Amino acid sequence: SKRAFIAGVADDNGYGWAIAKSLAAAGAEILVGTWVPALNIFETSLRRGKFDESRVLPDGSLMEITKVYPLDAVFDNPDDVPEDIKSNKRYAGSSNWTVKEVAESVKQDFGSIDILVHSLANGPEVSKPLLETSRNGYLAALSASRGSSLSLTYIASERIIPGYGGGMSSAKAALESDTRPHSFARYIIHRIKSTGPLRSRAAKAIGF
Ligand code: NAD
Repeated sequence: SKRAFIAGVADDNGYGWAIAKSLAAAGAEILVGTWVPALNIFETSLRRGKFDESRVLPDGSLMEITKVYPLDAVFDNPDDVPEDIKSNKRYAGSSNWTVKEVAESVKQDFGSIDILVHSLANGPEVSKPLLETSRNGYLAALSASRGSSLSLTYIASERIIPGYGGGMSSAKAALESDTRPHSFARYIIHRIKSTGPLRSRAAKAIGF
């Protein structure tokens, strides 16, 4: 059976969770990467059965998440992590959450994966129009929101969508450009474009 790593799952409302369920229903083993500040509440909720109802698969069994890895996709190596994040209480309790360290941990734990899904985004200034967005906000959106694996984009990459600011439309354009060489990734791009907003945590932050 296939082993999948889905980056960007921190509750049961988003695309990451839905994709994990589809893959689990198809028989895949599920590993997830959860944003470090959201890790505690996600693991606690999982343990306490808060997601049990949404874990039910079509055959009646519950989706198992084999392992939850803390992840902050903005940092590649420990050397990239600034002091204020390192000493932040929400980060200090976890370790090995930079991109390279997570990849290393997964390799140590499981050897390899078959499927990698990038289902994360973060635009700190998403509610600001692009012209009012600071350089830092813009670069932060680009940094967190692009991946060159199987990714989820949004139609705002090519059409004007009011409210999708802060460099997020640019981040999605970059993501599509980076994803284009991988032919099967385009399938998700088109599906998402035709489905309209899903009221995930990220989408609520934008006011969708
Ligand atoms: P979501 O809130 O469920 O998922 C986004 C996740 O990204 C969250 O779990 C958050 O904790 C995580 N995250 C943010 N910064 C991170 C970081 N630095 N490192 C690791 N994780 C980080 O919302 P969603 O809407 O399901 O988003 C999933 C993907 O789908 C995103 O790429 C989003 O842009 C895309 N998308 C969503 C919609 C929609 O309608 N909701 C439409 C098109 C595309």
